[in-house]
Amino acid sequence: MPKDNSSWAFALHGGAGAVAGRDYTETEKHLHELAARCRRKLRDNAAALDVVDYAVTELEASGLYVAGRGSAPNSAGHVELDASIMDGRSRAAGAVAALQDFANPVGVARGVMEKTPHVMLAGNGAAEFARRHGFEEITDPATYYTLPVGVTRADMFDIAHGTVGAVALDTTGGLAAATSTGGTFGKLHGRIGDTPLIGPGTWADDNIAISCTGIGEHIIRAGGAASIAFRYRSGIALHDAVQEMLDEVRRLGGDAGVIAVTCDGEIDMPYNSEGMKRASGKSGSDIVVATFAQARSTPGLDTP
Ligand code: ASP
Repeated sequence: MPKDNSSWAFALHGGAGAVAGRDYTETEKHLHELAARCRRKLRDNAAALDVVDYAVTELEASGLYVAGRGSAPNSAGHVELDASIMDGRSRAAGAVAALQDFANPVGVARGVMEKTPHVMLAGNGAAEFARRHGFEEITDPATYYTLPVGVTRADMFDIAHGTVGAVALDTTGGLAAATSTGGTFGKLHGRIGDTPLIGPGTWADDNIAISCTGIGEHIIRAGGAASIAFRYRSGIALHDAVQEMLDEVRRLGGDAGVIAVTCDGEIDMPYNSEGMKRASGKSGSDIVVATFAQARSTPGLDTP
């Protein structure tokens, strides 16, 4: 449990695919504003599950990341979306994989969690479920999807990944995590990465909430988020627990980034890619926004 009942904390990511030399001013500004809104919600006693759902929904809708509106087509020319969400206290979880043409994959994942006995729906079954429950369908994919800022169709295959995610601790001690992606550029039709997998991509329990980003094939084989949670539960310090998983990803030839928040309000956001778009905030501290090593603290944005 958190040390006092007014503690809260959160972290957001916009993917570990940041490339040195590119300009991330717009995404940092967006993360900044979104972090200020998450901060207000948690301060007003919003539930962690609602905050991570809200944050990832906003990240999906922005078109600034490789998730939701910013997703790019797979090798067959279709956008296929993966998302997952998990509530730490109840261990309730929901996910969708290879979902085509719905605006809010993380919302559909939450629907799977709340309205079915299942954890994951994929492909046409996920789409049928989303349609039946009235989730917004994309009727004109050609005009709906954007490319991430600064990325053109000519160079998109050089940029590996740009998933979004959120983790939060609320004032009741509840933890939650959510992750959403369009996947890796140029992925094969039907390919599913770590993001919709409860365990590798997203995890929340009573102690910790985690969202991963990076090359899913490596994250899955390194154990991903749940392997960090189990290390942390066994007494390993948060940063060491995260770093061991990232080292394993590196050993397997990939790169990745992680955001994690613990029941004590400790936040960690390391990566072993070139950069990771990220933001965090906690009670008693300023909002922090960064893409590369240099983080900016922004107390000014805290004012409602
Ligand atoms: N992990 C995601 C995937 O492999 C990509 C990313 O994090 O950007 O689908």
